[in-house]
This record gives sequence, C-alpha cells and structure tokens, in this order.
Amino acid sequence: MTINSIEHDIVIVGSGIAGLRAAVEIKRMYGDKLSVGVISKVQLMRSHSVAAEGGTAAVLYREEGDSYALHAWDTVKGSDFLADQDAVWLMVKLASEEVRLLEHWGMPWSRRPDGRIAQRPFGGHSFNRALYAADKTGFYEMQTLYNKLLEYDNWERYDEWFVTNIYIEGNEFRGLYALNPRDGDIYLFKAKAAIIATGGAGRLYSFTTYSHSVTGDGLAMAFRAGLPLKDMEFIQFHPTGLVPSGILISEAARGEGGYLINSRGERFMAKYAPQKMELAPRDIVSRAMMTEIIEGRGLKDEVSGLEYVLLDLRHLGEDKINDKLPAIREIALKHAGIDPVEEPIPVRPVAHYTMGGIHTDTYYRALSIDGQWVRGLFVAGEAAAASIHGANRLGSNSTTECLVSGRIAGLLAAEYALRVREAKSPPRERSVEEEKWVYSLVRRESGVPTYQIRRELQETMSDKFYVFRNGDDMNSGLLKMLKLRSMLRNEAYVEDKSRVYNTDLILAIETLNMLDVALVIAKSAIARTESRGAHYRMDYSKRNDAEWLKHTLALRYGEDDVKLSYEPVRITTWKPVERKY
Ligand SMILES: Cc1cc2nc3c(=O)[nH]c(=O)nc-3n(C[C@H](O)[C@H](O)[C@H](O)COP(=O)(O)OP(=O)(O)OC[C@H]3O[C@@H](n4cnc5c(N)ncnc54)[C@H](O)[C@@H]3O)c2cc1C
Repeated sequence: MTINSIEHDIVIVGSGIAGLRAAVEIKRMYGDKLSVGVISKVQLMRSHSVAAEGGTAAVLYREEGDSYALHAWDTVKGSDFLADQDAVWLMVKLASEEVRLLEHWGMPWSRRPDGRIAQRPFGGHSFNRALYAADKTGFYEMQTLYNKLLEYDNWERYDEWFVTNIYIEGNEFRGLYALNPRDGDIYLFKAKAAIIATGGAGRLYSFTTYSHSVTGDGLAMAFRAGLPLKDMEFIQFHPTGLVPSGILISEAARGEGGYLINSRGERFMAKYAPQKMELAPRDIVSRAMMTEIIEGRGLKDEVSGLEYVLLDLRHLGEDKINDKLPAIREIALKHAGIDPVEEPIPVRPVAHYTMGGIHTDTYYRALSIDGQWVRGLFVAGEAAAASIHGANRLGSNSTTECLVSGRIAGLLAAEYALRVREAKSPPRERSVEEEKWVYSLVRRESGVPTYQIRRELQETMSDKFYVFRNGDDMNSGLLKMLKLRSMLRNEAYVEDKSRVYNTDLILAIETLNMLDVALVIAKSAIARTESRGAHYRMDYSKRNDAEWLKHTLALRYGEDDVKLSYEPVRITTWKPVERKY
C-alpha cells in the first residue's frame, strides 16, 4: 500500500480565529521561510468562529478607569478561582495589542460618536470592555485575519480535509493523519510542529449554540494519543439559547439593556444577583433561570416540550435594536417567528463553551501527564486549556484568548520549526493501521446507524450533564455512554460504502470522538464532589476549596476508562473569596 504524504514546516489543524491568527503570526514574523498547511474539516471561512456575535474583551481606555488588573480580577472571579492567574495576566496584557493589530489589519470595529472604538458591557466584567462589530464580531474577525493571511505566500489550505489522529512518540509530535474526502485516501501530514486549533465540543449536547462541526475532534485525538484533557467537567451553559432551536441570542442583548423575565413578568435576577442583575456571569444567570423554571415560573413550548423564560428587548426600541442587535432581530424573526421589537424572546440555558481542553502550559505548549512539553505540539483557542476560564468563562473572553493563544502558539511553533532540522514520521505500520482504523467503520453490512448513537449521546448529555447535576443522574448517564461506546464498536453501521465524499463515514468518526470526550466529561464531573462555576451539583452544593481547588487531568486508561489526577491551581495574585454579584 502506498502512503500518501504531504509535508510542511508547520501544520495547523483548524481555521477558526485561533488557527488563522496562528497562521498570520508565523507569516508575519517569518514570511516565506516557513511553509504552513492549514487544515479545516469545513470550508476555511465556515469555521465555527464566524458565529461569534457579541464581542472581544480588551482593556482600551485606562484613563476612563479600566485596567489590566481589573480585567484579570474579573476573569479570575468569574472562573470561580479555578483560573491559573499567571495565564490570565498574560492574556489580558496581550489582548489590547491584539485588538489594535486587528484594527490596523482592517477590522471594522463599531465606533463611539467621536470615532474611537466602542465597547459594550458583558456579564461579569466590571467595565464596558467588549469591542464589537455590531453583533457579527467573529465574522468580521475571521474576514480580517483571512485577508491579512492572503498577503503572504508559501501556505496551503486543505479545506474539508478531516484529521483523524495525531501521532506522538517519545514525547514528540511526529505527524498527523487526514482523510481527503475527494479521493477517500488517508494522508500523512509530516511537519516539524503542529498547532491544534480545533475548537470545543458543544455538539455533544442536543440543545446547543454550536455549529454542527464542533464535535471535539482535536480533544479526542489528543486523548487517544495519550495526552491529558484538563477540567473537562466544566461546560458552559449560556443563559439565552433561543427556544426551540438553541441558536444563540448573544449576551450583547443583555449588554445593551435587555431584561430577563419570568411567566409573572418579574425581573427575577433581582433575587439572585441584585447588583449585576442580567449581567451576572453566565453560570449564575443560567442557574437562576432554571430555578425559576423548576419552581414553576417558566413557560413551555408545546411543540418541543422545552421550558423557558423570556428575554425582553422591547424597551430598547426599534432603532437601537436595528443598530446594535441586527442579527438578534433576524435570528428571532427567522427561527422563532418573533420580532423582538414587539414581543419578548423565549430562551433557556444552552450548551455554549468548553472551559476545559488539552492540557497546556501558560504558553500554549501541549503537556504530557508529567508536565513535560510534547515537543513540537501546540494548542490554541477553545481546544486549549491554559486555564484562563477555570470553571466559568466570562463572555467575550474567548475570542480574546483565540487571538492571544493563536499569536503565542504561532510564534513558538515557528521558532521551534526553525530550530529543528527535519520533520519526523511515524513508522510505516502505523500509517497502514490508520487506513484500516478509518475504514473498519464501513465494513459492517447492517446494524445501528451512527447518527442514532450520536443523537442518543446528545440527549444523554443534555439530560444528565446540564445546569444542575447530581451523582445518580451522572452515573446513569455514564452507563448509557458505555453502552453507546460498545454499540459503536460492535453494531454501528455506516450506510454509504463509497470512498468519495463519504460524509456518513466522517459522521461516524465524529461520533467516536464525541464518545471519547463525553467519557472524560462524565468521569471528571462524577469525581468532582463540589459545586464550582458551571459544575453545580445538587448533592454537593458548596464550593470546597480545601479539597477541590485543583485542576482535573484525565488520561486514557484502557478501552473505556479514564485515569484522573489533579494539579494545583496557580494563584499568583488573588486568594479565593466568596463570589458575590
Ligand atoms: C454562537 C456563538 C457565539 C459566540 N460569541 C462569542 C463572542 O461574542 N465572544 C467571544 O469571545 N466568544 C464567543 N463565542 C465563543 C467563540 O466563538 C469560540 O470559543 C471560538 O470562536 C472558538 O474558536 P477556535 O478558533 O478555537 O475554534 P473554531 O472556530 O471552532 O474552529 C475550529 C476549527 O477546527 C477545524 N476542525 C475541527 N475538527 C477538525 C478535524 N477533525 N479535522 C480538520 N479540521 C478540524 C474546524 O474545521 C475549524 O476550522 C461564541 C460561541 C458561539 C457558539
């Protein structure tokens, strides 16, 4: 069997904000000296980041009272003190430069009347520091980065190529495998360094804001390659998912003054976060909404059966809604038949962000379980867990981290690639195995369709690992997951047998990835017997710093198990205190 191979100095998996920012950094610093491959399983500009709506946090106007210390403190407090504080400081300090760089590269930031860049409030931030471009911030950031990248040569894009596995040996990156859907062949990508920028894992849930492509592939690949995943029990539920689709109604809607009301018309946040009201951090607002629903003050969508509360924008007026929230109006009209100028929008908490990810150090270098850098391997964006967001991310801090981590990972990968003489390869047998592994999924002639397994997994996650959790529910969710894993191995059936554009096969590999990531979430969540940030347990409802002020590291252990270990949180500036808003 011939093994197709492609070689670059650096290969970047993912072309969202993080992947593109990394590519720009490599090119900006070293131009033609390094060849770069950018692989994306969807067309480059359809990466999930285009969906980011509300803003990117950065300190701009210190003369008006904002400061790095305030941004860092808000982030650490928002994280329920699980953030590594040195990593947070690095992000907030580089963020201001990043947003200015974007400005120079053509980013159409929204403006104040005097022409300076405007910023809007976001939950948990004590200063209006989210820069935005109407409510299409991610779309414009992607355009700006892509435009910048087009100024350079010696880079190649691999749109719709699906990366199946990465190969690590001797604590060193040695290549990765990708399925080219055009010929159905598996290609070995050789490179001196790689950056994983594959985003989060929100599609594990049935009610989610994420694009269908966000299936946790990069996390699963790292896990299978023997790398630890960190803090995966912390999944963010954004308060305002449109009912019934789950499409995001951006926090910008509350930032611009929207109210949350229950079935009695009460602004219930007054009870839960009297100072910040609707702009408390997301974990707190989501719990408040679910409490209202559970205690009978919600409403019900008769078709989907989903219960909800209302987001009221009517008092903002049509002009402000059109000017500041045009996409929100369009989404509500198209997907719920509701015009927010006239009627409140039905919303409920929705899976929105993966706080955990691939274990890295502060500089986005992938780490092994014993804390050694896996030479040549970097992680950026939502796939990385440098521990900026801890147990709960603040809105608008993710695109910031994508920019900063893309820059750091890009720069360090470039410097490393310049130092290394040649790219190493896996042994030939490993490449043959990869082809077998991928196509083993299409051999069975009948059985359970993989999309059914995927749907059951999504329902299990939404049901058992949602805003309020408890040990019994999570354990029954885990049992279901183990059944689904065995079903995927022994009974799954891929109907399409062709090699060309076999999307059925890709869906099967994604489902396998989702099951790996789900197992880690379940095991990590069951083990953490406390409530912190987005991980709230009815059976352990208090934060327990004495025992649990630590990061979870989950390592693959046998076919269906995970070995957990823990690592201290790096506290450099602020000792944990009670979180009040
Ligand atoms: C609806 C919505 C709105 C949001 N709004 C905001 C906001 O206003 N502000 C904010 O800060 N954050 C926001 N977020 C969060 C933020 O958008 C994401 O965290 C961020 O865009 C992630 O970017 P990324 O570059 O890490 O990954 P992504 O943009 O998710 O890109 C992942 C890339 O990896 C590729 N990939 C994945 N798997 C494979 C594979 N197997 N093979 C090949 N390629 C692969 C994909 O094709 C894609 O190119 C929002 C999130 C959602 C869901």
